[in-house]
Amino acid sequence: MDISKRTQGLIWVIWALFVPIGIYLLYQFYAPDQEINWPVLLGYSVLAILTTYFPFKIAGTTIFLIQWINLAIFLKYGVFVEVLVMQLSIIPLVMKLKIGFSDFYRAIFNSFMFFMVSVISGVLVLLMGYQVGSIELKDIIFFGFIYQVINIFTNHVILYSYLRLTKQENEGFFGRDTIWDYAGIIVTFPFGITLYLLNEYVGTIAFFLLGVPFLLVTFLVRLYSNSERINEDLNQATEIGHELADRLTGDEIIELFLTKLSKMLPVDYSYIVDIKEGDMVFLKAMENDVDIEIDHSHEELLKSIAGIVYKTDKSILFNKQSEWLQLSAGFLPNNAESIISVPISRNQKMEGILVIASRKKYAFETYQLQIVSLLCSYFAVSLEKARFVQETVSKSERCALTKLYNYRYLEQQLEINMNDLLNGELRQLSLLMLDIDHFKAINDTYGHQSGNDILFSLARLLEVELEDCGILARYGGEEFVVILPNYSKEQSFKLAEELRTKIESTSFEIRTELEDKPQLIQVKITTSIGISTAPEDCDEAMALIRNADRALYIGAKREGRNRVAEYVK
Ligand code: GH3
Ligand code: MG
Ligand code: MG
Repeated sequence: MDISKRTQGLIWVIWALFVPIGIYLLYQFYAPDQEINWPVLLGYSVLAILTTYFPFKIAGTTIFLIQWINLAIFLKYGVFVEVLVMQLSIIPLVMKLKIGFSDFYRAIFNSFMFFMVSVISGVLVLLMGYQVGSIELKDIIFFGFIYQVINIFTNHVILYSYLRLTKQENEGFFGRDTIWDYAGIIVTFPFGITLYLLNEYVGTIAFFLLGVPFLLVTFLVRLYSNSERINEDLNQATEIGHELADRLTGDEIIELFLTKLSKMLPVDYSYIVDIKEGDMVFLKAMENDVDIEIDHSHEELLKSIAGIVYKTDKSILFNKQSEWLQLSAGFLPNNAESIISVPISRNQKMEGILVIASRKKYAFETYQLQIVSLLCSYFAVSLEKARFVQETVSKSERCALTKLYNYRYLEQQLEINMNDLLNGELRQLSLLMLDIDHFKAINDTYGHQSGNDILFSLARLLEVELEDCGILARYGGEEFVVILPNYSKEQSFKLAEELRTKIESTSFEIRTELEDKPQLIQVKITTSIGISTAPEDCDEAMALIRNADRALYIGAKREGRNRVAEYVK
């Protein structure tokens, strides 16, 4: 929780105005008039401290069941001593919540809240007529119960107002946490009364008879709820694993991985470093859910936290900035505190490194390191699977010899483009059909392998010349097709002429195999090109191919080859 410096200052001022003077006034008016039994008071204090240090955790809610002890103290010594012991029990709370210097205002706020709660409930019950130290059972039960209810209600109101005033998230006036607080009376009230009475009759032994079993139960509940949380996180991780496995592109998987991770853990900054041929490079960086660009060299990254994981192949967890500050090469923001960094490995080989960070200290727990590692292996496997699927898909779309798109892909794309034309998304659609002239003669003269080499080189030349202005595919043997979205007949003709002259003037290098000695020689080829354009010539995908083919044979080949011809109806 980040709250403004101004509000923090205000909290200090309010505390300074109320707490020290308040304690002084309480001493003046409500100092215990009976003699203090120091071992008993010490017992109460120790119990209070231990209870705050080992809070209950049930279903994600932390409960400090300290009310039974402060009830007993109040019944025995009145409001002044109760205030002091409660203030003392803030020390373990500060330790427990890992409150540091920068957020010390939280300790101060707790001190103020405890103080107000103690004073309001204590003074009210005293005004109502409770006699401190009474052993009248019905008085104890009656006033004790009222004390507990006022105590929790005051605590509830102050906390709620604080959350509202500092505009922090809260669950409304009756949230889940508050319901637990009130339900806690069922335990704390009888325990508190019993502790008080038992103390009256058997003295300090009462702490062993009641305090020790209470702390033991607390401890067992903590163990149980910790394993519940681990279970919950594991379930969530498995679910994320399934979701990752369903995605088929790398980008989708990376996106999903980071989003899910930041939902599961308090992540403010996340980075994926890729390892390419032994070098680390940033694959993705997200800060506060926004993609950012970071450019760090392998050498710079080596000095960072990612570098330690890279060198040791081991996961690391830092709880606060002072633990890692001297290591960072600076890609982590200044306000980062807790960090988890884990190798992303597949088949025992490190493929990348994950770094996640939180602005909170102690944001991650040790067991979460294992869960993040588990997620990283799901991530690596899913990425690999996506890569494999992508590869298979692209293989099925490509021709093995020229590496250009094949007929199957061409057909699909032509249908898509023709539909776009019919829907009005394209104005025109042209198609070039290119065929090498007398290619059979080249095969016959230099051999089939040399023919293949020329087909490969021509494919590269066409790719360069076309510069992504259309979709280039190998149609058949030595025939190539170019789909040209939004190209008019004239534009297509101009482009076809450029291609034809470029090819005509290019020397293709081949290695002859017909001679005894292999030789490198330059071969010239020419091409004939047919053009067809929709919607002028036709409005059907296959017709566009047929027409271009006709133009090629009738208009170009028959007219002497090495020329471009348009389809004429
Ligand atoms: P034109 O087109 O000018 O009429 O003459 P051409 O000799 O090119 O025509 P044709 O269609 O008769 O022959 C095409 C030749 O292309 C037949 C075949 O030897 C050759 N060819 C087709 N596919 C391949 C291939 O993948 N590799 C090689 N090396 N040659 C191929
Ligand atoms: Mg030919
Ligand atoms: Mg041919």
